[in-house]
Amino acid sequence: MDGEMGILELTAVELGKKIKFGEVGVEEALEAVIERIQEREESLHCYVTLDLEGARAKARLLQKKLLNGEVSGPLAGVPFAVKDNLCTKGMRTTCGSKILKNFVPPYDATVVRNLESAGAFILGKTNLDEFGMGNTTERSFAGATRNPWDEERSAGGSSGGSAAAVASGECFAALGTDTGGSIRQPAAHCGLVGLKPTYGTVSRYGLIAYCSSMDQAGPITKDVRDCAAVMEAIASYDEKDATSLRREPLHLQSALTEGVSGLKIGIPKDYFEEKLQPEVEHAVRAAMKELEAQGAIVEEFELGLVRYAVPTYYTIACAEASSNLERYDGMKYGLREAGTGLHDTYRQTRAKGFGEEVKRRILLGTFALSEGYYEQYYLKAMKARRLIKNRFDEVFQTYDLLLGPAAPTTAPQLGSVGDDPVQAYLADVYTVPANLAGIPAMSLPCGRDAQGMPIGLQLMADRFQERTIFRAAATWEQVFGGFRQLRGSRRIDELGQLGGFGQFGGTRQHESKARWEEGMGQA
Ligand code: GLN
Repeated sequence: MDGEMGILELTAVELGKKIKFGEVGVEEALEAVIERIQEREESLHCYVTLDLEGARAKARLLQKKLLNGEVSGPLAGVPFAVKDNLCTKGMRTTCGSKILKNFVPPYDATVVRNLESAGAFILGKTNLDEFGMGNTTERSFAGATRNPWDEERSAGGSSGGSAAAVASGECFAALGTDTGGSIRQPAAHCGLVGLKPTYGTVSRYGLIAYCSSMDQAGPITKDVRDCAAVMEAIASYDEKDATSLRREPLHLQSALTEGVSGLKIGIPKDYFEEKLQPEVEHAVRAAMKELEAQGAIVEEFELGLVRYAVPTYYTIACAEASSNLERYDGMKYGLREAGTGLHDTYRQTRAKGFGEEVKRRILLGTFALSEGYYEQYYLKAMKARRLIKNRFDEVFQTYDLLLGPAAPTTAPQLGSVGDDPVQAYLADVYTVPANLAGIPAMSLPCGRDAQGMPIGLQLMADRFQERTIFRAAATWEQVFGGFRQLRGSRRIDELGQLGGFGQFGGTRQHESKARWEEGMGQA
């Protein structure tokens, strides 16, 4: 390996193996990441909070524990990043919101705990759209995250900070959360693997609620094997989460070599409508053909109801958000803007603490739940959700797996979503159905467009059938390659210079830096 850049080329599991055999030290791996952070973080803005000294202390301790045989497993000693809506004891957790800018949780989310029990350690908290509401990571109080493949573009969202951190080498793997696509879509836009697990598989304890009936945490990684290892580490039954499910062990690693022979794969025609970028369609269809060549039975069919998914999702998500976000009143956590009395304090705190999109959704959600409108909006959306779920149940009687694009386009230019929220919501059309139905879904790389930007392939399976997804994902990855192959012969530190992309020029970098510092300065 050629020095530290060599280390950053490794996947999490490869690094774990080298650490185990003493070929790379835990502190050495961490220092490689820190050096990378020093080079790129100022322009990429993957993190809201970094605790490098804390990470160094954890690395030292872990190295000792490894030598004494007190920790083991594929992820032991691997530096991770965690989305900033997952609680970390003693480490600030902001949700990308001014209203929680000073919130330091007194406890760890169960996923964080599980990750640490597996011997991994966390060096920082990654940027997100405020409370997970968005799909570009531009709606954070701390400013936007940039895509390491092209810094003029969004890294996707809302887990854009986690995806950009993995893709740039600012960590080896990360956790995101997915309510309507926030793991899969940024993974797609950054050339990574992202999994939204079956609802209830990963504990929501300590995941700050946006839309509780759909929120799930999951891995964002460089390849399918890493995704399996992280998923096996974080999944657990948790009595602290009332929607947590008892499941058999997932056995994902063994799925990686099973192949796709005999699997029935359905291609929903509705996932290939006119808004789909032609290069995305082309790449997804190529993957479909390859899986067929590998022995899968592939068939197109009409899923139906897809056009109801976005309005159904946004009605329910806003309704739940309006209720979940009631707790931010300036009394218990975070920001307090003192007013002239109790109600004025609530008003001032919420007016100053929440961003524009969050306010919009609270208003829409409160409206949808209000007397006289409840039946017309919320109840109707719940009925539509049931129909969508029933339709998936029916479809999975015939197919083992559904295959389609993860997003209609590759990563958009920063700032291009602009002021039209409906336009932004429509970009979630391929991801929200899985959340409405509670089924597992993965995005993984399947090509690059003419500008060199990564394209994401989405695989969905019935509830509890993650193994089937991993069988197909590993088969495809073996043919196509993963993140490393996607970059061609380039090293991870050369991302952003692919296909003649320049690093963006002086003024914008400067502006963005000022905005970032302003965000951080408020902390
Ligand atoms: N883009 C969707 C939304 O804004 C999904 C976000 C998410 O999964 N957290 O609600």
